[in-house]
Amino acid sequence: MTAAETSAGIEWATGQADAARRFDVLVVGGGPAGLCAAEAAATHGARVAVLERQKEIGYPVHTSGGSWISDMRALGIPPELYHPIRRVTFLAPRREARFDYDEPVCCVLDVRGVYQHLAGRAVAAGVTLLPHAPVERPLVEDGRVVGVVAKDQRNQAGEWRAPVVIDASGFSRTLVTRTGLQTGFRRYGFGAEYDLYAPNYDQDSLYLIMGSQVAPSGYAWAFPRGKGRVRLGVGVIRPDVDADAREYLDAFTERLPSLAPAFAGAGAVEYHTGLFPSEGVAPRFASAGLLATGDAAGHGSTLVGEGIRFAIYSGRMAGEVAAEAVRAGDASAEFLARYERQWRARFGREMELSYLINQRIAAWSDAKWDAGVEMLARLSPAQAAELLRGDYSAGLFLGVLRRNPGLLRTGARKFFDLALSRLG
Ligand SMILES: Cc1cc2nc3c(=O)[nH]c(=O)nc-3n(C[C@H](O)[C@H](O)[C@H](O)COP(=O)(O)OP(=O)(O)OC[C@H]3O[C@@H](n4cnc5c(N)ncnc54)[C@H](O)[C@@H]3O)c2cc1C
Repeated sequence: MTAAETSAGIEWATGQADAARRFDVLVVGGGPAGLCAAEAAATHGARVAVLERQKEIGYPVHTSGGSWISDMRALGIPPELYHPIRRVTFLAPRREARFDYDEPVCCVLDVRGVYQHLAGRAVAAGVTLLPHAPVERPLVEDGRVVGVVAKDQRNQAGEWRAPVVIDASGFSRTLVTRTGLQTGFRRYGFGAEYDLYAPNYDQDSLYLIMGSQVAPSGYAWAFPRGKGRVRLGVGVIRPDVDADAREYLDAFTERLPSLAPAFAGAGAVEYHTGLFPSEGVAPRFASAGLLATGDAAGHGSTLVGEGIRFAIYSGRMAGEVAAEAVRAGDASAEFLARYERQWRARFGREMELSYLINQRIAAWSDAKWDAGVEMLARLSPAQAAELLRGDYSAGLFLGVLRRNPGLLRTGARKFFDLALSRLG
């Protein structure tokens, strides 16, 4: 490897960048999908650069960081970067379901800490990571993506080239919308959240709160993350409703006085907003020279708007296929389509069912939420966790029906029939 190849970032800063702007794989976006795609591609032998528009990885935070301990362990995230949860409570207007976990299964991430950890891993694998490098558009030649146009830290636009480019730009879908592979998102969750210091909040307890009072066509959440900090947020689905999540958030304790004591003496330390795709998986997420991963491909679960672990898994898959394409000297749409097949084989069914559930529950009335939470309350803590994770299986659905035989006499029957037929 030449010096130009090994120190691209430094050469860019000193203005001798042309040769150094050629890589095997370019990744647009340094969120969890992009960082993990880059690490995977580099680990499999590719020369990789990540272009991130923000000046810092993991800033600004636009997620609540709810996740699962088993996944964090499997993904090698150090335990000091997540806070374990012992009690999960679902609140509907007139019903509640509470689940206690002696051995915690879910957690709330130190989001910035986790993303910076992933960035460190990517750099250790040999990735050139370039913060403050907004990508403007793809470079397309003979119908294939061959690079991008991005600005550098001195605000000068230039070309970056690679046979495989990965769009990991999240909700903004920077490349795929400009190559015609996908359109912009039409249905999405809009969330607003305070990250509070809340000395009276029970750090073991996580709440998911539904109903028109707190979050029409969505839900509110309280996610403790250790050391007195709690993320309190509201998300609504657009365009299903035009409610403003920020207004509902500011009125939260008035609208839900039962939780007001937990927030006595609390004050905001950070304010976050974000958008999450809520229209199911993109029909296509690979084309000649281009892969899309994470939110850019609609790879998050629409069940509760959970995307971090899925972004990591799908990013890894995209990075591995990108490196295979580089090794094979074949970045054709046909070759890269193996990424779509692999992803659908692993996540397709789960995401399809989550989206079906999301479309149903987003339209639920308060009475339906009361009935839904009453149904949840009959489940075991393990079943509730499987359902929330989207770990669907015939066994899980049959277990839910066994504890709630009345469901078979409602409109839910159609869903269970369909789900069971999909799950074989
Ligand atoms: C309010 C809210 C709450 C959420 N809560 C949770 C939760 O509790 N748990 C969970 O698992 N998921 C949650 N999610 C979803 C989760 O945040 C996403 O699924 C996840 O961030 C997707 O990761 P990603 O890497 O695909 O995209 P992102 O995290 O969005 O990363 C994309 C990166 O690309 C960069 N970028 C964008 N455009 C360009 C460009 N033109 N040039 C260069 N860089 C660019 C961005 O700056 C960003 O760093 C939530 C989402 C929202 C909106």
